[in-house]
Amino acid sequence: MKGPDLLGILGSVLAISFLMGGTSTEPPTTSRYAYTSQSATKPTTSNTTNNVDIRPIVNSINTFYSSTVAGYIPPKVSIFNSSINSSCGLVYEVAVYCPADQTIFIRASIAEDLATRGFPNNESSIYYVIGHETGHHVQHILNRSITEHGADCLAGHSARTASFINIEVMANTAYSVGGITRSPYGHGTKSERKSLVLRGYNGTFASCF
Ligand SMILES: [Zn+2]
Repeated sequence: MKGPDLLGILGSVLAISFLMGGTSTEPPTTSRYAYTSQSATKPTTSNTTNNVDIRPIVNSINTFYSSTVAGYIPPKVSIFNSSINSSCGLVYEVAVYCPADQTIFIRASIAEDLATRGFPNNESSIYYVIGHETGHHVQHILNRSITEHGADCLAGHSARTASFINIEVMANTAYSVGGITRSPYGHGTKSERKSLVLRGYNGTFASCF
C-alpha cells in the first residue's frame, strides 16, 4: 500500500528510509519485477549502510531517458533496509520495480548484497541493476510488454551516455547474474543477458522492444 513509509527520491533529492524489517513471507499480490529471479530466500539482513552513492547513477539514467523518450517521467526510488511494503507486496529483494507505485525499490545494502551473492559490486554493476529496473519503468510508462529481456537491453542502452560506466564490466555482471537456464520469470541465461546488454549499448532504443 502506498503510504508515508514510501520515502523516495525524485530527481536528485535523496530520502533514505531505514525501516525495521518485516517478518512476513507472503508472496507478492501484484506483479513486480526484479533484476534477477525473485527468490523465496531473503538475502542476509544487513544493518550496515553502504557508502555507494546511487544518485549519479539514477540521475544519469533519468537524464538519458528525458532526452530520448517523449514524456518521460522519472520513477520514484525508494531505498530501504531489510524489507518494505509496496502495492506489489512485501519487497525484500535487492532491487524491484513496482508498476503500481511507479517506484524502484533498492536495498540500502545493495553493494554488500551483490558481493554476498558472488556478483560484482562496483559502480558499473550497480548501474546494471538500476538500469534494468528503470527499463521496466520505461516499458510500463510506454504501455509496452514488461519483459526481462527488454529490461536488460534497456539497461545497456541507457549506459550509452554514462561515461563513468565500463560497459564490459556491466555486461559481465549481466553474465554473472544470468542462470544456466531461463528463470520462471523470463530472466535470460548468462550468455543471453550479456548479449542483451551489449545489444542495447550498441543498438537503437527500438531494438530493445
Ligand atoms: Zn526484471
